[in-house]
Amino acid sequence: MKRIYFDHSATTPCDKEAAAAALEYMTEKFGNASSIHSFGREARKAIDEAREKVAALIGAASANEIFFTSGGTEGDNLAIKGVAFANRKKGNHIITSAVEHHAVLHTCEYLEKLGFTVTYLPVDEYGMVRMDDLRKAITDKTILISIMLANNEVGTIQPVQEIGRLAREKGIYFHTDAVQAVGNYPINVQEMNIDLLTMSGHKFHAPKGVGALYIRRGVRIDAVQHGGAHERNMRAGTENVSGIVGLGKAAEIATRDMAKKVVYLAQLRDKIISEVMAKIPHVKLNGHPTERLPGNANFSFLYVEGESLLLNLDLKGIAASSGSACTSGSLDPSHVLLAMGLTHEVAHGSLRITLGRDNTMEEVDYFLEVLPEILDRLRAMSPLFGESAHTAVSNPCSQCRAH
Ligand code: PLP
Repeated sequence: MKRIYFDHSATTPCDKEAAAAALEYMTEKFGNASSIHSFGREARKAIDEAREKVAALIGAASANEIFFTSGGTEGDNLAIKGVAFANRKKGNHIITSAVEHHAVLHTCEYLEKLGFTVTYLPVDEYGMVRMDDLRKAITDKTILISIMLANNEVGTIQPVQEIGRLAREKGIYFHTDAVQAVGNYPINVQEMNIDLLTMSGHKFHAPKGVGALYIRRGVRIDAVQHGGAHERNMRAGTENVSGIVGLGKAAEIATRDMAKKVVYLAQLRDKIISEVMAKIPHVKLNGHPTERLPGNANFSFLYVEGESLLLNLDLKGIAASSGSACTSGSLDPSHVLLAMGLTHEVAHGSLRITLGRDNTMEEVDYFLEVLPEILDRLRAMSPLFGESAHTAVSNPCSQCRAH
């Protein structure tokens, strides 16, 4: 059976060119970048070249503003704790949003235990932060605003440029978790007024376990991991040279292909959204209708358990997800969908389709062909999908489109 991968927000396949480049730095060119001899210098040169490529992907003013990490979780920890610790004398207040990834939320909760105060901004029905709420939340103790660029579940893109402008006006640092956006959406940290930006390689065809944090020149930040002088004292530990080389190659490819990738993914996504909304009864589109990642479609199907839907799609060879990969395995409904005002019932029936550059229109058509049969079967087994489901009047879910 053909297998179709529609879960690119969980992870992406490593690009073959990126993998080949990485392999060379595991086997032939295996030097430690801190060594003074030619093996070491070879590795150092490769890291410096990768830094240039990553800087170019996000429009950084200088490659020196890129610090390699082990991925998104580490980048978020370093940005938030690092800024909090270095600016403690100035203030102890941080602003974030209720729909952030746990790498941000749990880091903020940890800082609360250390005496910081955190405001978790609510979001609107599309998962977007309101600028008015942000403005009102700022106090003279606010040192950091951390709002994600694009949401990992529903794909909503936040007004980062405006947030960055406001932060700069008020002399507050602005960090954005751009793990889902980098390589999949055009970013320019200078135009977007971003001070710190987290990225993770495995979300855009680089190997897993490597990422980077952009830190604008002049930002006051402490290291949180101590040891050697690696990454200019910002991140101790022997560099993951092969991973960094793979990340550099993936960044180069993403920069080269960005414009056509965005258009292509949006075409596939729009076909899925328009067909599902037109043909499937009792469905709600989650996330913003227009301000969303080009490869993200997220729906709630009433009278269906997300897990059963995933298993049935898997039996047809289609890999998708319900909620975020990090929370799958737990039966708790997604904190993102709840923050957007969905009821537990509606949140439970969610399906996330995240597309990648290798997906095709034929795969989309196949998905659109099998989905209605699966939903019909699951709904027929649901005790809730009785009389009420067929009458708009008694539809228990005002958020859902009933035919
Ligand atoms: N932030 C967001 C928005 C994510 O989607 C993820 C992973 O899914 C992370 C952070 C964590 O990244 P990593 O898996 O590289 O630690």
